[in-house]
Amino acid sequence: MLDLGSCDCTASTVAPGSPDMPRLQLPVSAYLIRLVDGAHLLVDTGMHRGHVDDPDLAWRGTVSEGDLRGDMTSADTLTHRLGELGLTPPDVAYVVNTHLHFDHAGDNDLFPHARFLVQRAQVDFARDNPDYPGRFWDLPQLAYELLDGPADIAPGVRVLPTPGHTPGHQSVVVTLPQTGTVILAGDAVHIAQSFERDDWSAHHDPAAARRSAYELRDLADSTGGLLIYGHDRSRPQSLRLAPHASYS
Ligand SMILES: [Zn+2]
Repeated sequence: MLDLGSCDCTASTVAPGSPDMPRLQLPVSAYLIRLVDGAHLLVDTGMHRGHVDDPDLAWRGTVSEGDLRGDMTSADTLTHRLGELGLTPPDVAYVVNTHLHFDHAGDNDLFPHARFLVQRAQVDFARDNPDYPGRFWDLPQLAYELLDGPADIAPGVRVLPTPGHTPGHQSVVVTLPQTGTVILAGDAVHIAQSFERDDWSAHHDPAAARRSAYELRDLADSTGGLLIYGHDRSRPQSLRLAPHASYS
């Protein structure tokens, strides 16, 4: 699990009606998976590295300016985090974007040699949509392979459509030899309190978002799996970050 800084945003982004916390610092993460054949698969790419010098890089001049800001140091860049593991971007063979928001696909341009695996419904919705700035991901040098539903990406790595946060959102189910099932929810579930509040109105399709979130929780319950929320490292308490720790 790679620490890629935080998104400084208004609380209504993930927790509607919370005047007690007008701003939130949401941790931004990516996940590096070493496949059985030794190839590396990356889930999400975080915010664009340009946010280190310019927190308003993504949204300046738009209605979201000031609402969504990147809070990153140079240590929080994806290249730095990969470097801590002895890797460079060309070592990444596959990139799965849970979806194409700026905090999940911001550094996609680092991987022109990789195969990108994204749901077709997400690409169709995001293309030319100002909420999904195309300059971060809709680039001619990037090879997108479009998925239509669940797919086995590699041994032990499966993607599941979890629409609602956005059309074509997908989550990633990883089966590890020792840890067992790990479910990377992406923004299907932002934070643990999403379940406690049971308010999904911040999502594109709240009813679908609620369905997807509970499907993931049921899957975690039935497999004894670890469900990792998109922007919450406080729970489960046991989350461990690279390069100091990994899951095997
Ligand atoms: Zn997000």
